[in-house]
Amino acid sequence: MTKSTRLDKFAIAAALQDIAALLELKGGKDRFKARAYQTGARVIAGLSEDVGEVVLGNRLTSLRGIGDALASQIEQLYLTGESSVLLELRKEFPAGILELSAVPGLSISKIKSLHEALGITSIAELKAAAEAGKIRTLKGFGAKTEATLLQTISNHRQRGKQDERLHLHRALETATQVVDYLQTARDTKEISLAGSLRRWKETVGTIRLVANTKRPETLIEHFLRCPLIVEVIEQMEEACTVRLTQGARVSLVAARPPEFALALLTETGSKAHVNKLQQIANGEGPKSNPKQVAKKRPRRASRSELQNEEDIYAQLGMEYIPPELREDAGEIEAALEGKLPEYLVTLADIRGMVHCHTTYSDGKNSLAEMVRAAEAMGMKYVTITDHSPTAFYAGGVTLDRLKRQWAEIDEVQEQVKIKILRGTESDIVADGRLDYPDKILEQFDVIVASIHSRYKMDSAKMTRRIVTAMRQPVFKIWGHALGRKLLSRPPFDCDVEQILDVIAESQAAIEVNGDPYRLDMAPQWIREARKRKIKFVISVDAHSTGALNNLKYGVGTARRGWLRKADVLNTLGAKAFQKAVKPV
Ligand SMILES: [Zn+2]
Ligand SMILES: [Zn+2]
Repeated sequence: MTKSTRLDKFAIAAALQDIAALLELKGGKDRFKARAYQTGARVIAGLSEDVGEVVLGNRLTSLRGIGDALASQIEQLYLTGESSVLLELRKEFPAGILELSAVPGLSISKIKSLHEALGITSIAELKAAAEAGKIRTLKGFGAKTEATLLQTISNHRQRGKQDERLHLHRALETATQVVDYLQTARDTKEISLAGSLRRWKETVGTIRLVANTKRPETLIEHFLRCPLIVEVIEQMEEACTVRLTQGARVSLVAARPPEFALALLTETGSKAHVNKLQQIANGEGPKSNPKQVAKKRPRRASRSELQNEEDIYAQLGMEYIPPELREDAGEIEAALEGKLPEYLVTLADIRGMVHCHTTYSDGKNSLAEMVRAAEAMGMKYVTITDHSPTAFYAGGVTLDRLKRQWAEIDEVQEQVKIKILRGTESDIVADGRLDYPDKILEQFDVIVASIHSRYKMDSAKMTRRIVTAMRQPVFKIWGHALGRKLLSRPPFDCDVEQILDVIAESQAAIEVNGDPYRLDMAPQWIREARKRKIKFVISVDAHSTGALNNLKYGVGTARRGWLRKADVLNTLGAKAFQKAVKPV
């Protein structure tokens, strides 16, 4: 680049994005720096005045989020087309770093040695070198590592080609990074999540995004410059699908303002839901009950004003259907009849943080830290539910340590406003009993009862085990009900309907577990339970303060199960909740 070619704000923002991506790779405290560059990119791209005037007028640091270090890089980029930080980072990392770092188990130092010794800059070159037996000769590698690498590469490729799915929180993290990046493009009004991520499905295959933009081609070009992209899978003028460094697939549809609402609806899916809407639009399929629907809908949209999804549903003569319900599981018929749930539970409704672990069992944070973090999130109460003694591998709390925990709860309680409830996550042992003696169980404020061992019982035995537990005379919340671990362990075998029948007439409620690896029980079972008027709590199953943010995944899952605010016990105030879950 010659000095006469001045970079515009978008080119500067793109360079700052590159810096952020490389710092992110370094990890550790450089992650914070990465965030700063990310912010810088957004600020510069969003400038309303000419970037040159800001630079030459020495006004960069007066912009929010831009400090001296960042300002000096921006100035360099503007004046010379280069950034000393970016050049340094490029020197530090071998070529092809973003692609190679996608191979699991390949650390940055290993990528460096591969580059230095064999000149490897891509996955293809890595594979060729491994097949030729060149990697085993390198210091720190060996024949075994070489074989593992080959295996990982082939798994990686296959997984990438097949339907690799991501856990919800990973998909959301990646989507947020990409949306941050896209927001630096010009003439883009809005970027919305779509697809299964917007429907809060348990796992996500393709991260789908829809942008509302006056210049689709420009936005697609900008997207394709994103430093996280390692492969372009499909590219059209106004849409494209790519693969990112971590293996995630991302598709972007760039829609002009008049087409945005329909594009968002179509991209959000599910396919079955959209197909049925299409049939209705064609005059086929179920019919509307206009009187019922009109009662719930403020106004009727005319054909010319399909500004948002609400207008589209109105046009089809039905109530607006929230994304979490769009599975063609009866929601369209209900919307045509005007009979969708009046008030699905929302994140803002939740007033108590349920199911928290501390350092007393296998949590990472102390009791006081968990309590203060829950309070900082605006909660009115928090239940401390460490593991019971049978879960010895998870540091289950024995009786003497339990007494100590109760004393500590009293101490911490004096320093905070949030109400701390004494709880346990009691194992359901093999014969269906709970873990502490009755006299102790009665002294808790809340009991979560969970299965943590012997998952492989046959269905009849497992059903008996859970039914016995649910019939125990103390009130208990059935924790991570069917024991599934998403993408790794299926739910265990049991007669769910029979168990739900028993719960409906027992002292029990069911947990919607917000841990993104669990999200248990599944939406179709939540609906079955609700039919029986069973109550729920939405929990976090948090083993650290950070995991308190699991709450949103629990709420998403509850909404997928059509839960109303009134079905969820931890939407109650502290006193009412305590009364509702009191063991005896
Ligand atoms: Zn558990
Ligand atoms: Zn737990």
